[in-house]
Amino acid sequence: MRDYIRRRVWWSAAFAVGGWLMFPLGAVIEQSLPEGAARAAVWIVGFVMFAGAILALQRFVRCPKCKARLGQTIAMPVAFSWGSGPKVNFCPFCGVNLDEPLPRPQSPPQSLNPIQ
Ligand SMILES: [Zn+2]
Repeated sequence: MRDYIRRRVWWSAAFAVGGWLMFPLGAVIEQSLPEGAARAAVWIVGFVMFAGAILALQRFVRCPKCKARLGQTIAMPVAFSWGSGPKVNFCPFCGVNLDEPLPRPQSPPQSLNPIQ
């Protein structure tokens, strides 16, 4: 369950970073692009990717059990906590243990990580 949330946050974060990268990249590409729509497109793509990632974080990162949106609460600590320090272990809305398996496993058993 923790991995499920983490994966979704990571996808969103990857798009957000991609969107951010479009800005310095856009500044470079801009020099070689013709005046007009093509230049604007670079910035628009970057902005859309970034905004889309934020929206995805808000909308798609949910507790697998109670479907509460976790984007503004525990998504970041769950996804980006490594090693030491206190960890988020429970959904703040329904209290489900994040180390429990998903309620409806979508992957076959053999793909589960044996070291758990
Ligand atoms: Zn929950």
